[in-house]
Amino acid sequence: MDASGEVLASLRGVRKRYGALQALDGVDLDLHAGQVLALLGPNGAGKTTTIGLLLGLLRADAGQVRLFGQDPQQVAPRRGIGVMLQDAALPPTLKVGELLRLTASYYPAPRPLADSAALAGIGDLLGRPYGKLSGGQQRRVQFAIALCGRPRLLFLDEPTVGLDMPARQRLWATVRALAGEGVAVVLTTHYLEEAAQLADRVCVLVRGRIVSDGSVDALRARVETRRVRCRSALEPATVATWPGVREVHRDGAWLQLASDQVEMVVRRLLEADPALAGLEVQAAGLDEAFCDLTRDQAVASFDPREAA
Ligand code: ATP
Repeated sequence: MDASGEVLASLRGVRKRYGALQALDGVDLDLHAGQVLALLGPNGAGKTTTIGLLLGLLRADAGQVRLFGQDPQQVAPRRGIGVMLQDAALPPTLKVGELLRLTASYYPAPRPLADSAALAGIGDLLGRPYGKLSGGQQRRVQFAIALCGRPRLLFLDEPTVGLDMPARQRLWATVRALAGEGVAVVLTTHYLEEAAQLADRVCVLVRGRIVSDGSVDALRARVETRRVRCRSALEPATVATWPGVREVHRDGAWLQLASDQVEMVVRRLLEADPALAGLEVQAAGLDEAFCDLTRDQAVASFDPREAA
C-alpha cells in the first residue's frame, strides 16, 4: 500500500526504561494512513511498550511520541484510535450489542452497529452475553469493538490468536479493506506468515531497537540464507569449514546446507565432487529469515556485563 500516506503517528528517538532495564533504546517509527505495519520481535523486544506509548498509556523518558500531531496522553487524539489488546477485560454480563453500542457512544462519528457486526462477522452474536461466548467468538467481538468508532488508526495485538481459519481469513480481509479506506493498522503477531499475508511493511524490534524496517521481501532479502540440497559423498565436517557455509548435515545420501553466499558454495561443491547430483537451491522461508535476523542482532548486542 501507499507508503507515502499521511503520517498519523510517530516516535522519534524514543527511549523507555523500567528501572535498570532499557526497554526502548532510540526508536524511530512513522505510521502511515492506508498502511498495514506488522511489528515483530522476540518476547521482551519492546513491542507492547511501543504500542503503550502510542496509546498514551506510558510516557517516554526521552524522544517524542505524536498521535495525530498531538500528545497521545491527551483525550482528543485518542478518539481517533481503535484498539484490540490481548488481555481485553470486558463486562461478561453485557450483551454483545450493548457492548458495541456503549463503546460506539464514546466516539464522535461511529460506524452503524450493523456495519461493525458485519465487518467482524458477529451479526449472530449480538443478543448473547459476552461472558458466555467461546474464546474465538470473544476475540471477534473485541475486533468489532476496535473498529466500531471508525478509527483512523487501528492497533491489533496478536488479533488472530484463538481464531479458526475462516475467522482468521475474514479478519485479514477486513483489515485489508480498512487499509484500502485509508486506515493505518499496526499489528503485532508471532505468525510471520500472517505478517507476510497482511502487512505492507514489517518492522522488527530486538532488545528495544528497530533492526529491520521495510517490505516482507526486503526482510527476506536482508538475510540471504538459502538452502542447498544435493546427493554427494562429501563429508559434512569438511564442508562446514568452507566460507559462506552456515550449517551442514547429512540425511542419507543427501547433503543439506544453509549458506549466505550460495553461488560461491555451489561452485565449490561442484568442483569438490564431480559425481554430485540432484542439486536444489531454495530461498529461506520468512520464519528462517526472521530467526537469523533476531539471533544475529541479539548476539551483536549481547553485553556480558548484563549476564554477569
Ligand atoms: P512479548 O512478545 O513477550 O509480549 P514485547 O516485545 O511486547 O514482548 P515488552 O512487553 O514491551 O516486550 O517488554 C520489553 C521489556 O521491558 C521486557 O524486558 C519486559 O520484561 C520489560 N517490561 C515491560 N513492562 C515492564 C514493567 N511494567 N516493569 C518492568 N519491566 C517491564
